[in-house]
Amino acid sequence: MLGLGTKNIGIDLGTANTLVYVDGKGIVTNEPSVVAKNTQTGEIIAVGEEARAMIGRTPADIDAIRPMKDGVIADYDTTAAMLKYFMNKALGGKNNHPLVMICVPSGVTEVEKRAVIDAAKVAGAKEAYVIEEPYAAAIGAGLPVMDPTGSMVVDIGGGTTDVATISLGGIVSSRSIRMAGDKIDEAVIAYIRANFNLLIGERTAEEIKIQLGCASIEEAKKLDGMTIRGRDLLTGLPKTQDITAVDVANAIQETVQAIIEAIKDTLEETSPEIAADVIDHGIVLTGGGAQLKSLDSVISDATKVPVFVAQDPLECVAIGTGESLKNIDVLKKH
Ligand code: ADP
Ligand code: MG
Repeated sequence: MLGLGTKNIGIDLGTANTLVYVDGKGIVTNEPSVVAKNTQTGEIIAVGEEARAMIGRTPADIDAIRPMKDGVIADYDTTAAMLKYFMNKALGGKNNHPLVMICVPSGVTEVEKRAVIDAAKVAGAKEAYVIEEPYAAAIGAGLPVMDPTGSMVVDIGGGTTDVATISLGGIVSSRSIRMAGDKIDEAVIAYIRANFNLLIGERTAEEIKIQLGCASIEEAKKLDGMTIRGRDLLTGLPKTQDITAVDVANAIQETVQAIIEAIKDTLEETSPEIAADVIDHGIVLTGGGAQLKSLDSVISDATKVPVFVAQDPLECVAIGTGESLKNIDVLKKH
């Protein structure tokens, strides 16, 4: 049974965003996985949304850190501090050592898994259990994970794209590649630098991706362009530049193709029965990257399977992680 007075929580510890789901309440916090620190003293200045606004704009003595990289912990102490902040915020300051269910990408090492569990404990969890991200995403997207039918989910986050087929309450086959939102942003930065001699920051690159990013070059031709600002590499001065959606579509093709390859590889690995189920029910996309324009149709064209974007793609993993708290008693026995 659930501990008296203790709220159990589910955490989607993402490379880009961390969401906390409180049992009985649903998602209560949803903020960027960013921490601003004083570089001299190590003191934490801001966490979440406030810290994100500082990226690329900090003076010498402040650093805005993203402690998660490629789906795993890159900076342990900062991750633990960030988790503590979000847990306290979600529990209204009453952090009475909850049981925590926290997600990890599929295919992480035992050491990486252990680091997540330990960070949750340092942050105040009495006990912490991990759930694989694509499995949580599938639950959150409302897929029939327990049924004897194959479902396929593709979770495109900041750091990783996780592809999995699921049947009878378990992952049947999966792939996790370090090609997702952040790589798309980097590709936009590199393309604009190479083609326009213009240097832009990661925040600007992300804004361009969200506004103009389109997985299909054909579809991109129908979209309006935009004016961007950055620093001219030749003069060193601020400069504005018009770019088109086709520019952005070209810039991001390599990442889009890598995601498609991961999906094809995973499909090839599944049994014919599960492949047939996936053809019937389609592939469901979750994570922030699922919102990239035309990504669903491009994947569908390449795989010949129907593709759908989940409702509230940014929240699926947190919802699934939270819902799996119901099974925490089962996990505790292991
Ligand atoms: P994570 O689980 O790694 O924290 P999320 O699932 O929260 O990642 O997704 C964040 C990623 O989704 C970021 O790279 C962000 O830029 C991207 N993203 C958010 N909205 C869009 C959009 N409309 N189009 C394309 N990418 C988007
Ligand atoms: Mg995620």
